[in-house]
Amino acid sequence: MEDCIFCKIIKGELPSYTIYEDEILKVFMNIDPSTNGHLLLIPKKHLVTVLDIDQNFISHALEIIQKKIYPLLKEKLNCEGLTISQNNFYGQEVKHFHIHLTPRYQEDLVEFSYNKEKLLDIEEVYQKLVN
Ligand code: 5GP
Ligand code: ZN
Repeated sequence: MEDCIFCKIIKGELPSYTIYEDEILKVFMNIDPSTNGHLLLIPKKHLVTVLDIDQNFISHALEIIQKKIYPLLKEKLNCEGLTISQNNFYGQEVKHFHIHLTPRYQEDLVEFSYNKEKLLDIEEVYQKLVN
């Protein structure tokens, strides 16, 4: 993809602080981190959302997170947890699939905010989902 910033990072046309890469994926630092060590994990192939991703990629990504990334964040930054998140379509700023790896620390104040006023009754939503 010509004008995709993450494809440019993969090709080396834009700089990035790379933490890990192999033939399938790349892990680099988020330019606008929510916490110290906030990373992005992306496929080297230009894929857009979770609907484009295959199970082999997820399985490989999981192995890299478990064996390399989490231990690194724990050892070097002494994080107390790791929040893994991923936006599709709405809320997705960069249209190249990416997984946020956000190390968590006491009182980091990271939160997923939402509008409670707009929520339907749980029962009503359940009925929509199962009928
Ligand atoms: P999204 O909102 O799409 O889930 O997250 C996109 C993320 O990409 C944002 O957290 C943003 O800080 C990060 N980002 C956007 N442009 C760049 C860039 O050029 N380099 C890096 N390293 N991160 C970027
Ligand atoms: Zn791309």
